[in-house]
Order: sequence, then C-alpha cells, then structure tokens
Amino acid sequence: MTESSSRRNFLRGKFSPRKGPLRPPWALVEDDFINACTRCGDCISTCPTRVIIKHEAGYPSVDFSEGECTFCGDCVTACTANALTRTIDPRWLARAKINEDCLAQQKVECRVCGEICAENAIHFPPMPGGISTPVLIAECCTGCGACVATCPTRAITVR
Ligand code: SF4
Ligand code: SF4
Ligand code: SF4
Repeated sequence: MTESSSRRNFLRGKFSPRKGPLRPPWALVEDDFINACTRCGDCISTCPTRVIIKHEAGYPSVDFSEGECTFCGDCVTACTANALTRTIDPRWLARAKINEDCLAQQKVECRVCGEICAENAIHFPPMPGGISTPVLIAECCTGCGACVATCPTRAITVR
C-alpha cells in the first residue's frame, strides 16, 4: 500500500488499530504515551472498577477480565504526567470483537453479551429454526468492556 493510499484509508476511518496493550482511555498515541508515562501507578490505584493493571515494563493497560470502564475519568485526573489527557477526543477507538469461541456460533443458545450491553451494540438477528448469533454494531459500541467478563467462553475482546 502506498503512503497516499494509507493516508486516504486513514482519513476514511479504514486504518488498522495498532496491536499491543490497550492503554487507559484518553491516552496519548502509543509512542507519546510511553514517553510521557512515568509508571507511577496512580491511574491503577485510582480506577474504581479496577480495570487498569500494571503491564509490561510497568506501564498501565486495561484488562476487562474482572470489570468494565465507566469512563469516569478518574485515571485522567490522577495522571499528572499528562500521558492521559482529556484534550484527546474520542476517549479511545477500542471496540468489542466477537471471535469463533462464541457459543452461539457453535449452535449453543447464549445471549448474555446482548443482555449486558447498555448501548444495545450487540444484536441477535432472528434465525427461524436455528440459533441466532451475535452481531456487533460498531457505531454503538463504546468499548466499555462490560460484555467481556460476562461471556462464558471469553469470546469477546476489546481492541
Ligand atoms: S475512566 Fe474510570 S473506570 Fe475507566 S479506566 Fe479510567 S478510572 Fe477506570
Ligand atoms: S456471551 Fe459470548 S458465547 Fe454468549 S453469545 Fe455473546 S459472545 Fe457468544
Ligand atoms: S464493549 Fe460495551 S458497548 Fe461494546 S458491545 Fe461490549 S458491552 Fe456493549
């Protein structure tokens, strides 16, 4: 892909999210975040839902295995190094993704993720005579992670 087509795709929103840890909301882009973050851990200790963990090299990342992000902003307020900053909009581009471990995709009835999602971002289109499978409506998903821990097969990731 040429540089100009990459740029066109980025402007159309077709960029690939970078692989790697999911930083807390309102984090600077990865390289700037790594430069600014002092690894003080203040965002970790302040998060009321305990979704920020100490990750590789002591930098914070978000882990939804026990809870969700409410976007309360406490981590941003705690970050005196401005590695997290409210001047960034949107708070992040992370969205849920459902993989093939989903029970419904294996013909086992399950709608837990759709029931927990406050944004109605997971739909189960009618499937007469069969098992309906979840469809993520990306525009509605905030990346809060509430669906992650509730999924019995851990088939949902937020990236
Ligand atoms: S916005 Fe609130 S709930 Fe979300 S990671 Fe920051 S402190 Fe935790
Ligand atoms: S909760 Fe998990 S297993 Fe159940 S439908 Fe959703 S993604 Fe599939
Ligand atoms: S991450 Fe949050 S908003 Fe997105 S599908 Fe899961 S529960 Fe819904």
